Amino acid sequence: MKAVLDHVGIAVRSLDESLAFFRDALGLEVEPAQDVPAQRVRAQFISTGSASLELLESSAPGSPIGAFLEKRGPGLHHITLRVEDIRAALQQLKDRRVRLIDEAPRPGAEGALVAFIHPSSAHGVLVELKQVVSVIPPPPKPRVIQLGDIQLTLLCDGFFHLDGGAMFGVIPKPMWEKKAVPDDRNRIRMAMRPVLVDNGSRKMLIDAGCGDKMTSPKQAEIYGFERDFNLTHSLAAAGVAPESIDVVLASHLHFDHAGGFTSLDASGVARPRFPRAQYVVRRGEWDEAHLVNERTKATYFPENFQPLADSRVLQLVDEDATIMPGVRVQRTGGHTMHHQMALIESCGKTAVFAADLLPTAAHLPEVWVMGYDLFPIDTLNFKRAFLREAVEREYLILFEHDPDVAAGYIRRRADGKRYVEPVA
Ligand SMILES: [Zn+2]
Repeated sequence: MKAVLDHVGIAVRSLDESLAFFRDALGLEVEPAQDVPAQRVRAQFISTGSASLELLESSAPGSPIGAFLEKRGPGLHHITLRVEDIRAALQQLKDRRVRLIDEAPRPGAEGALVAFIHPSSAHGVLVELKQVVSVIPPPPKPRVIQLGDIQLTLLCDGFFHLDGGAMFGVIPKPMWEKKAVPDDRNRIRMAMRPVLVDNGSRKMLIDAGCGDKMTSPKQAEIYGFERDFNLTHSLAAAGVAPESIDVVLASHLHFDHAGGFTSLDASGVARPRFPRAQYVVRRGEWDEAHLVNERTKATYFPENFQPLADSRVLQLVDEDATIMPGVRVQRTGGHTMHHQMALIESCGKTAVFAADLLPTAAHLPEVWVMGYDLFPIDTLNFKRAFLREAVEREYLILFEHDPDVAAGYIRRRADGKRYVEPVA
């Protein structure tokens, strides 16, 4: 067991009075006092290098610190040793017949786990063990944007990493690395941001991230997934039940967009993840996903989409069409021959789920086209016309892969240069 001194607890009759010595006479740095109601104590930490002092004042009659003061007077109360694995430490002590106050760890301050060792086994010193648990912050509540009568919820299926060079095609690294900082393996961090569209009577999910099936060590190694917070959490935080989704719309069937369409059941079989939903896919894209070549087979995985056909929840669309009131699709081509974006329109306002036409805000310049695109000149041509339209008509652009900017308006400066004004 490796144990490091974390702090020394000192029982005092009065925090205020004790500060005359610890703060004023010794000149130590004192943190604000905090109430710990469960222990009926007020505690004040004093930083002294790698370990600290903890002054303890009783905050209610009959508290453990009050009893200690009555019996022994002020003075050293406990020492706290920080260990890496508190359960293993307790087991080791039990094996050596050390008397424990806590047989199992219990929650302490700041999410830590703590347990006390009885002073009779520790030469008269009350010893506290502590394991610092990295606290995962509660998931942020997904941003909701009201677009006329339609509600857009900006969801997130976590992050992954792709080669920065491939993400920016012919753009030299000295230019793109200012917009997207690469890691030591030249990869850039990308979000997966599905969007929920609620028109008041129906709920549509557009794309669904990579989902939970890519669990092989090799895939984790290549893509550096960060999915502790994923679409499941994001939907829950938004108060959206998977059963409440009526339509799932695919921009295209690459794994980082369609992986979340299915999930594995108890026997390991991939099934449609949203039980009530009809899944809408463009026919051309569906056909290409089934006719993979050496270049496309690394991103079209049948378990992401074949179960939709098998379960008869697949609807193929041939043309640009309205999918539900307020949402229509438009083929962009470029990234794949049948890649499509979704236009969400209400009360004269338009939001565009641009998918891989504009994966991040950094892809704003016309020629910043992904090396992944199968038909980059088509992307360039479509993008040129689209950007002009987006500025003129003030489209709200939803950036599916941007790690920081989920949505923004494209504006044009006086010198003609375009920029993104983020709104989320
Ligand atoms: Zn993508």
